[in-house]
Amino acid sequence: MPAPAATLYVVATPIGNLADLSPRAQEVLRSVAAICAEDTRHTGQLLSHFGIGKPLVALHDHNEEAMAERVVARLLGGESLALVSDAGTPLVSDPGFRLVRAARAAGVRVSPVPGACAAIAGLSVAGLPSDRFVFEGFLPAKAAARRERLQRLAGETGTLVFYESSHRIAESLADMAVAFGSERPAAVARELTKMFETVLDGSLEQLLAAVQADDNQRKGEFVVMVQGAGDDGEAKIAEGRRLYAKLHEHLPPSTAAKLAAELSGAPRKALYGG
Ligand code: SAM
Repeated sequence: MPAPAATLYVVATPIGNLADLSPRAQEVLRSVAAICAEDTRHTGQLLSHFGIGKPLVALHDHNEEAMAERVVARLLGGESLALVSDAGTPLVSDPGFRLVRAARAAGVRVSPVPGACAAIAGLSVAGLPSDRFVFEGFLPAKAAARRERLQRLAGETGTLVFYESSHRIAESLADMAVAFGSERPAAVARELTKMFETVLDGSLEQLLAAVQADDNQRKGEFVVMVQGAGDDGEAKIAEGRRLYAKLHEHLPPSTAAKLAAELSGAPRKALYGG
């Protein structure tokens, strides 16, 4: 007899306020044979708050490849399982991609139980254009790599969404002000759904000043959102400047500016004073 069809449920958990765990998420977590969790202790506490007792399987960045195979074997054997991360939606700057890919490749049904996601929650209250946005997750920790990434994003026209930690919020805002211009509209959403929830908006320069002026504004978890490059001209100039900086490493300034202007469509004057 074939094994009953099993499902891998990808379940979103709260990003702060426990009441955001949906009734369906609770029902699914109660129904499965086991729950794959990023940090079993953390998830154990969440489950015990809801009176849910289930075997937990540790599945994190360091063991996901190996665990995925074992979890898929259980699914193929007919057990339904759930995947959660520490907070919010699994796979969004969180583990789970390899498991979901392996389950799908094995023909297992994978079904979402949607809920909180800090990026979407932040975007929903930022007051920035949200019809097109680019989720960039965490920026590189090293300053040089972070600046290079931001420089590359300077011409992006959709709203940019970043995750940031308390250690680097001020440095990142400072780097963004340099890469995107200090007047670029932005918003910082901190501790969403928690007691000290704060959503600040203003220019990058104003936000940096606000975060520097108050220690409390550097505590907790952050979503940083930056409006995209305004019009076509602004996007072209940002791209032209990025190309000019690269080409200038190997070519004389006037040649680098000519090529960067041609490739980006930006006026040469805007890239190079000569
Ligand atoms: N999977 C999660 C989601 O769906 O949002 C994100 C996990 S990622 C490892 C954690 C980051 O998300 C934090 O460093 C912070 O940037 C952001 N974040 C999580 N909870 C947040 C909250 N309550 N308020 C603001 N940002 C939050």
